[in-house]
Formats: sequence, structure tokens, C-alpha cells
Amino acid sequence: MFKTDLMENASQGRTSRRAFLVSAAAIGAGLYFWNRSKTQPAEAHMPNQKPPEDVTIVEFTDSGERKVVVREPKIVKSDSEWKKQLTPNAYDIARHEETEMAFSGEYWNLHDKGLYRCVCCSTALFSSDTKFESGTGWPSFWQPIAEENIENIQDSTFGMTRTAVACRLCDGHLGHVFDDGPKPTGLRYCMNSASLRFVKSNT
Ligand SMILES: [Zn+2]
Repeated sequence: MFKTDLMENASQGRTSRRAFLVSAAAIGAGLYFWNRSKTQPAEAHMPNQKPPEDVTIVEFTDSGERKVVVREPKIVKSDSEWKKQLTPNAYDIARHEETEMAFSGEYWNLHDKGLYRCVCCSTALFSSDTKFESGTGWPSFWQPIAEENIENIQDSTFGMTRTAVACRLCDGHLGHVFDDGPKPTGLRYCMNSASLRFVKSNT
């Protein structure tokens, strides 16, 4: 009964999935420390697989308040699992680095107050407080909500040298960052709406 409920919850909304993953991570961490005095603890659980790398991210409430810094294993899923979880558009963009057409996404012209989370894993990525009108047709921000939650990656596709931006926890592709943004950072995080999930603030 418990197991069935847990599995159902995990396959429903992202919040439940996240809670499930966090508990799994907590149990994993517990086992790790319990096993610490023994040799190669991780291999006892995953004999043929390298355990996912641990990353440090900052958690935020839906109203944008910084909560805690957590260390948890990167979310690693197979291509078919991502395909099942995401819309075809989000899958192509977030998991295969495609770019949505300018002015076609859900958020380029959104001015509501709230938080933009990762469409794949719900990690908080950007706040509406740093969103600005770039005129590009993509949602643009001058700063991520926490540097820890994103990763910059050198991207030399299409004969250009650019910096791609990914979600630190699940490696989901978000967009690119350019140095022609407004003050105070001078940066322009040019994101794909499809890689984000907006959560409107109630406050
Ligand atoms: Zn993510």
C-alpha cells in the first residue's frame, strides 16, 4: 500500500516527484555515512554504474524566498524517461539543446511576479525581479536566482563561440548567456520558455 502510494505520488506533479527524490537522496546520504568506514560504499548499490555526481544547489520557496543550500546527486534519466515526462517541445529543447522560435514561447512577454523553475526537475532558476525586456522574443534575465543552480558550458556549435546555460541539478539545456545585458551585471541570460516552468507569486 505504502509503496503503491509512493509510486503514484512520484508519477504525479513535480513537487511530489521532487519530495520523493529528496527523500531518496536523504536515505542515500544516510547509507553513505553509515557505510563510510567500509570500502567503496557506492559500488555496493550500483555495481555497474558510476553514481551520479553530487551538486550543491539552493532551494527557494515558490514566493522566491531563499531556503537552504542542499547537496544532492545530479538527476540522471534515460532519454525515454525524459520523453515520457516532458512535452515534445520541452524534450527537444531541454534535453537536446534545440532553440525555440523567437516570440513563440510562453514567457517572452510575461511580466507577472514569480519564479521560473526548471521544466525537468523544478530547481529554481530565475526570478521575475531580474527579468527585462530584451526585444529578442525570448525570456531574458540579468542574473540567475542563485549561481549554484545553473552551469555555464562553452558551446561552439554553428561556428559560434557561445556560453550555454544548463540546470545544475539535471543538466537540462536552458539557453545562452551573453555580455550585452543591462546593469547591474551586464549579462543577458537568453532563455527558452520551454525549458522553464513559471510559478506565479501569491505575495
Ligand atoms: Zn533541472
